[in-house]
Amino acid sequence: MSEQANPFESLQEQIDDASAYVDADADVLARLKHPERVLETNLSVEMDDGSVEVFEAYRSQFNGDRGPYKGGIRYHPGVTRDEVKALSGWMVYKCAVVDIPYGGGKGGIVVDPDDYSESELERLTRSFAEELRPLIGEDRDIPAPDVNTGQREMNWIKDTYETLENTTEPGVITGKSPDSGGSAGRVAATGRSTMLTAREAFDYLDRDIAGADVAVQGYGNAGWIAAKLIHELDANVVAVSDSSGAIYREDGFNPVDVKHHKNETGSVTGYHNADQELSNEDLLTLDVDLLVPAALENAIDGDLAEEVSADVVVEAANGPLTPDADDVLAESDVYVFPDILANAGGVTVSYFEWVQNRQRFYWTEDRVNEELERVITDAFDNLVDTYESTGAPNMRTAAYVVAIQRVLEAYEEGGNWP
Ligand code: NAD
Repeated sequence: MSEQANPFESLQEQIDDASAYVDADADVLARLKHPERVLETNLSVEMDDGSVEVFEAYRSQFNGDRGPYKGGIRYHPGVTRDEVKALSGWMVYKCAVVDIPYGGGKGGIVVDPDDYSESELERLTRSFAEELRPLIGEDRDIPAPDVNTGQREMNWIKDTYETLENTTEPGVITGKSPDSGGSAGRVAATGRSTMLTAREAFDYLDRDIAGADVAVQGYGNAGWIAAKLIHELDANVVAVSDSSGAIYREDGFNPVDVKHHKNETGSVTGYHNADQELSNEDLLTLDVDLLVPAALENAIDGDLAEEVSADVVVEAANGPLTPDADDVLAESDVYVFPDILANAGGVTVSYFEWVQNRQRFYWTEDRVNEELERVITDAFDNLVDTYESTGAPNMRTAAYVVAIQRVLEAYEEGGNWP
């Protein structure tokens, strides 16, 4: 994975690219390239042996013109202030592209959770929740899971917030477990929107997804569910990977079996039914119909993009292609369907969770999946209409045009505050 591209600069470049197709003053557009505020804090946390460790943590609130800030919290040793700022910006445009009433935010702690016990992680999470308390709230800023966080951490944050505020406010955070106010269908939502985007993309491009060869990079929450649901469309998932490496099978994998293997052994490598093991880079350059990057940002830079042989890329991860990679793939006529649409299922079902929390009325999984399908297919249709009507060079730029226009409308309707 390239270390070179700064994700915040990538975000700003993506906004600049789209700005050429939006009718607005430069000063108004400039505002869309910077966060409104960023919390940087140091969390002192007691370890099990009584010592104290200090962890850097961030929360960026990028833009709130369309509603409360919304976005996940990531636990990863590679978290940086610029990464969190970029991720918070992508959330603004993601919420706008699928037209849900949120702005964008994101948080992160510089930590490798594998190095800590559950009780240490609970104290770390509660300490972060305490720092976040003045900033968050169901009408202010609503965190959610991201890389290496899930229902457990969300439940801890909700409990800390509600205890300190002496209230019941499950909508302060989404991605909770069902008994703590989570929504049916939330865990699978990101992979589901990736599958829906791939399905609509193949339809738009007049290609059959049934029988298509698919490679999926990353076998966490987003990647493995995308692999499973795309396999259910009768596609051949011929390669998958995680941080330990990649596996390949010409006739395609059963993604559920691979997941069982990963649950048992901790990685996809070593799976008994694979024809061969590959490097992560080999997976990204396989000659497949569809490539789904579902790991971290900057997985494909300009140099690697020269070697990408997939015909269609659907981004489950946030920011997996650098702007250079985008240029190279556009020149090679590879269609890239961007993250802000393809992985928007997570935030869309988070929105449904928040709606259900506020109404204290819970939907069935079928209803959640139906509503999600409507949101993603509407957003897809809107995206391709904009792509065709504006002459934008690629789907990403067209998606930003849709999103920026929506954010600007909300901003302009709000008028100026002296
Ligand atoms: P996760 O931690 O569950 O999974 C990440 C996976 O990527 C793991 O399997 C890990 O081993 C793998 N990985 C890490 N480095 C790799 C490498 N170099 N090569 C191959 N695999 C590698 O995280 P997730 O929730 O699935 O998130 C993945 C991506 O999707 C992130 O970019 C995240 O921001 C984005 N995303 C997730 C959600 C969600 O609801 N989970 C929503 C929107 C976007």
